[in-house]
Amino acid sequence: MLTEPLSALTARTLQNCGASAALDVAGGMAVRSPVTGETVATLAPHTAAGAGAAIDTAVAAFKTWRLVPAPRRGELVRLFGEELRRARQDLGRMVSIEAGKSPSEGLGEVQEMIDICDFAVGLSRQLYGLTIATERPGHRMMETWHPLGVVGIISAFNFPCAPWCWNAALALVCGDPVLWKPSEKTPLTALAVQAVFDRAVARFGDAPEGLSQVLIGGPDLGEALTDSTSVALVSATGSTRMGRIVGPKVAARFGRCILELGGNNAGIVCPSADMDMALRAIAFGAMGTAGQRCTTMRRLFVHESVYDRLVPALVTAYGSVSVGNPLSSGALVGPLIDKAAFVGMGAALDDAKALGGTVHGGARQPVEGDAAYYVKPALVEMPEQAGPVLRETFAPILYVMKYSDFDAVLDAHNAVGGGLSSSIFTTDLREMETFLSARGSDCGIANVNIGTSGAEIGGAFGGEKETGGGRESGSDAWRAYMRRATNTINYSRELPLAQGVSFDIG
Ligand code: NAD
Repeated sequence: MLTEPLSALTARTLQNCGASAALDVAGGMAVRSPVTGETVATLAPHTAAGAGAAIDTAVAAFKTWRLVPAPRRGELVRLFGEELRRARQDLGRMVSIEAGKSPSEGLGEVQEMIDICDFAVGLSRQLYGLTIATERPGHRMMETWHPLGVVGIISAFNFPCAPWCWNAALALVCGDPVLWKPSEKTPLTALAVQAVFDRAVARFGDAPEGLSQVLIGGPDLGEALTDSTSVALVSATGSTRMGRIVGPKVAARFGRCILELGGNNAGIVCPSADMDMALRAIAFGAMGTAGQRCTTMRRLFVHESVYDRLVPALVTAYGSVSVGNPLSSGALVGPLIDKAAFVGMGAALDDAKALGGTVHGGARQPVEGDAAYYVKPALVEMPEQAGPVLRETFAPILYVMKYSDFDAVLDAHNAVGGGLSSSIFTTDLREMETFLSARGSDCGIANVNIGTSGAEIGGAFGGEKETGGGRESGSDAWRAYMRRATNTINYSRELPLAQGVSFDIG
C-alpha cells in the first residue's frame, strides 16, 4: 500500500536526489506515471533557443574538458559512481514511478549505471592506441585517440537512465561533454540523475560548466541534436522508426551515430535442453519488464519432440504470473507504459488469431483503475512465423512455434528485420557452436542457456540490421567517443617516401 499520493512520492524522491525543477508549471509538459495513469508533474520544456544555448555551452565545455588528463576525468566518473550508490534507492524508485518497473528491476537499472562507472574509471587509464611497424627506416608510426566532441544522447522510455550512463560514463572519460534528450515519457528520472551528477561535479571541483546537461521535451529536441553540426556524435536509443529518421540526418552532415533500435528477439529450445532452466529463462526474458525491454524474447522455436513438455508448462507459468502495482505489491509484471501500448498489443493479438494463432492470456487486468494499463502477458501458439510475429510489438507477447529441422530453424530465426538478441537452449555442443558461428544467429547478442535479456555492461551492447548496428557499454565501444589520429614520426636525417615513391626536387 502506498502511504502518500504518487505525485507527493515523486516530488519527495526527486528532492532526495537534489533535483529542484518546478513540477507544476502551468501549461507545461505533463508527465504521467504508468503505475496509476495519473499526472505526477508538469514540466517546462526546453525551447529550440534553449537547446541551441545548451549546445553552445557544451561546445565551450569541450574546449576545456578535452585537455584534462583522462585519469583525472575518470576521477569525476568515480565520484559519480559513489553518488549513484548513495542515491540508489531513490533513483530506483524514480524508475519504477516513471517506467513502471518492479523495485528489483528499477534498482537493477541503477546498478547498471554504477557498474559502467566502475568500468569507465578503469578505462580512463586504458585509452590505448597501437604502435605500428613502419616500412621506412628511422620512422615510428602510432595511433593516438583524442576526444571527439559533444555527444548527444537520445534515450527511450523503457530504460530511462542506464543507456544514458553507458554513453555518458564512457564519453566523459573520453573527454566529451554530454547532452541528454530523455524520452518525453520519462524526463523526471533524467532530472534526478542529473542532480546526482551535479553532486559529483561539486565534489570534483573544477569541471567546466555544462559538462552534462538535460534537454526536456519531445522529438523536436532530439532533432536539434541530430541536426546540429556542433554535436559530433548522436547516440540514439529507441524505435527503428526513429532510427530511420535520425540515422540519415546525421549521416547527411557526416556526423557520427550510434543507433540502438528495436529488436525481434528469439529463443530456440532444442531436444537436449535443460527444460527447467529454459522455462525460467524464457519466463523472465518474455514477461519481465512487462515485455518492454529491447531484448525481450518475442519469438520461441521449440523442437517438436519437447513441445508438449515445455509449452504447457509455460502456459501454466503465464497463467499464474503476478500482475500488479510495482510500488505497492510484489508483482513480477507491472503496467504497460500507456494506452497506445495496450491498443498495439490488442491489435497484434487480433492479427495473430486471424492467422490461426491460439492466444493464452493477454487480457487487461483490473489494477489501479481505468487510466493505467495492466495486462496478463500473452503466449501465442502460432502455426508459422507470419504477420505480427515478424515485427516488434512493444508488449508482453511471446509467439511460440514448433520446429523439426535445425538448419531450417536457424533460417527462420534470422528471417526478421531486428538483429538484437538471441538464445539457444541446448546441451548439444554441435548445436551450440553452430548457433554461435557464422551460420548461426545474425544478432549482436547470441546467448546459450540464458535468455535474450539482462545483458552485463562488460560486453559491447547492440545489434545488427534494423537494430541499427550500434555498440555501446563495454568491450571497445569507447572508440566511438574518440577520434583516431595516425601519427608518423621521422627521427632520421633522410626523407624516404612511402611505397618507394621518388620526388626529387634537386
Ligand atoms: P521512440 O522511438 O518512440 O523514442 C525514443 C526517443 O527518440 C525519445 O527520446 C523520442 O523523443 C526520440 N525521438 C523520436 N522521434 C525522433 C526524431 N524524429 N528525431 C530525434 N529524436 C526522436 O521509442 P520508445 O517508445 O521510447 O522506446 C521503445 C523502443 O526503443 C522499442 O522499439 C525498443 O526496442 C527500443 N529500444 C532499443 C534499445 C536498444 O538498446 N537497442 C534499448 C531500449 C529501447
